[in-house]
Amino acid sequence: MENLIILGTGCAGLTAAIYAARANLNPLVLEGHEPGGQLSTTTLVENYPGFRDGIMGPELIMNMKAQAERFGARFQYADCKGLERAEGHLVIDVEGKKVETRALIVASGASAKWLGIDREKELVGHGLTSCATCDGAFYRNVPVCVVGGGDSAVEEATFLTRFASKVYLIHRRDTLRASKVMIQRAMDNPKVAPVWNSTVSEYLTDADGEMRAVKLKNLVTGEESELEVKCVFVAIGHTPNTAPFKGVLDLDENGYLLQRDGITATNVPGVFAAGDVSDHRYRQAVTASGQGCAAALDAERYLADLGVH
Ligand code: NAP
Repeated sequence: MENLIILGTGCAGLTAAIYAARANLNPLVLEGHEPGGQLSTTTLVENYPGFRDGIMGPELIMNMKAQAERFGARFQYADCKGLERAEGHLVIDVEGKKVETRALIVASGASAKWLGIDREKELVGHGLTSCATCDGAFYRNVPVCVVGGGDSAVEEATFLTRFASKVYLIHRRDTLRASKVMIQRAMDNPKVAPVWNSTVSEYLTDADGEMRAVKLKNLVTGEESELEVKCVFVAIGHTPNTAPFKGVLDLDENGYLLQRDGITATNVPGVFAAGDVSDHRYRQAVTASGQGCAAALDAERYLADLGVH
């Protein structure tokens, strides 16, 4: 019987691991199919407090993991496939093996959706990103584009006008699904230029392998064109990694884990949620870390009530 299993090794899971390990809970941390979470695929992180000159995303993650290991957190590369409630404890399906635990922190994150076109994985960090807050400031006085038509895309387009010389908003239809007020704000901004009924069909790079332009396809006329941009911000939504918990943990209509009682608790006693798996609003490394810390403290309290110290 484990005391505490933590699912996920992004900022939320690793911060939970540091706190839980320092509380002598001897946590077992499962690294899923995207070890290190979204930060492991970014380059320079300039908004995580404490790093005056920024820190590379993978380095920040490696430091957090080493910090958790220093206090005794155990790591295992394995995916959680399911969760069951048992008498006074939980049973987790770890790739076919049943593992019992008294408490569980779900910090399995959310995966950004991508367009699914050629070379997408290798271009992330080289002019392709899914996070305007993280990467917008790197693209000053150059043209960029945002792909999508929801609140994220429209909000990011407005945000990027602080830096970019021009922000093309590329949407596959001619109406946006974002809220009216956000649309108004974006459309009132002279730097935002919508590109309707269009999809990106190809990423075009320069000799250094950095984004140079995108190839566009107009879905109404079939016409193809090239648009020069230094960065493509893909904002077509995220998928929370909650598939193994359907039917056991309460999810909202978009599949995000629901927390309860103003803490990180879920509807199942002993199960706590932290980070992007339950947060579609802030989605920042530092907020995920904060939630990871809170989940570890909540789990510690829960275990103390069970007599585990
Ligand atoms: P979303 O609402 O699901 O919008 C996704 C957008 O991407 C849609 O416009 C969709 O086009 C487009 N899209 C999806 N797949 C595509 C593909 N393969 N190629 C091209 N375009 C594609 O996602 P979101 O904007 O991330 O928002 C998620 C949730 O968070 C929403 O509930 C939203 O209201 C909320 N949110 C709120 C705020 C805020 O209040 N400040 C900010 C951000 C997000 P179609 O329109 O044609 O389907």
